Amino acid sequence: MDLEGRRQSTNVEDRRGMSSGAKLGLGGGATGIIMMLLLMMCQGGGGLDLGSVMGQLGGNMVQTQSGEGRELTEQEQELATFSAQILAGTEDVWTEIFRQKGWGQYTPPTLVFYDTQTQTGCGTGQSAMGPFYCSADQKLYIDLSFFQTMRQQLGADGDFAYAFVIAHEVGHHVEYLTGRLGKAHQQMSQYGQNSPRANEVSVRLELLADFYAGVWAHHDNARFKSLQPGDLEEAIDCAQKIGDDWLQRKAQGSAVPETFTHGTSQQRMRWLKLGYQTGDVSEGRTFDLPYNQL
Ligand SMILES: [Zn+2]
Repeated sequence: MDLEGRRQSTNVEDRRGMSSGAKLGLGGGATGIIMMLLLMMCQGGGGLDLGSVMGQLGGNMVQTQSGEGRELTEQEQELATFSAQILAGTEDVWTEIFRQKGWGQYTPPTLVFYDTQTQTGCGTGQSAMGPFYCSADQKLYIDLSFFQTMRQQLGADGDFAYAFVIAHEVGHHVEYLTGRLGKAHQQMSQYGQNSPRANEVSVRLELLADFYAGVWAHHDNARFKSLQPGDLEEAIDCAQKIGDDWLQRKAQGSAVPETFTHGTSQQRMRWLKLGYQTGDVSEGRTFDLPYNQL
């Protein structure tokens, strides 16, 4: 991606390097396994999913003491700058769309960077769970080591993959602002957590967030020529498999096996592409179409 000269959002809360006593950390072995899984997923290997793997790894978590106010590395600073630029792009695009659509004022979410573990309006956030959006405090939580891992595995082509991760979580914020998220969560608890019908609602929510990420990419690219077409498919393919908000549903008591709640890769690709190609939010009909036509 080309973000030369782009502004950075100020809606960022940096909790990195903050000491909060004992933190949960992953042992070296577990970290290695995660890296390997990320690589496998980015190469299209199998139907593995990070959420369930992390659940299995839970027992391997070890207590570590955090360093007091450690220095951030240059790469960590770069990733924070990149993320704040992407967030700024989503603010510009969604402010304009909300205005055009008469959806009222777009109030941007806050992006929180943290190390390892942090308190959120949706319970305790842990980096092992991946980036997520919490509607209770309207914040996106990201441990940037997640992106560092992606970058190491994907190289420069990974830029759009983690931009997509942020845009997908912002997509959930848009769902929240339009009332879609609240309505869906209500439906899901009526249907009963983990029931097939609740899972369908979850898939519709996820596909809509993918679609919204595509809409953002369309407008960001139209305005700034920020995307390089060649990167798109590979990056998206990876991001869709690892950019998840597993924790949010878990914290709200509606966690279900990932394979049943996110739709197939093909579905996710379809909606992201549709958003990217049209840039038109009215095409995001994931709640209108029959489930077998998503
Ligand atoms: Zn999501």
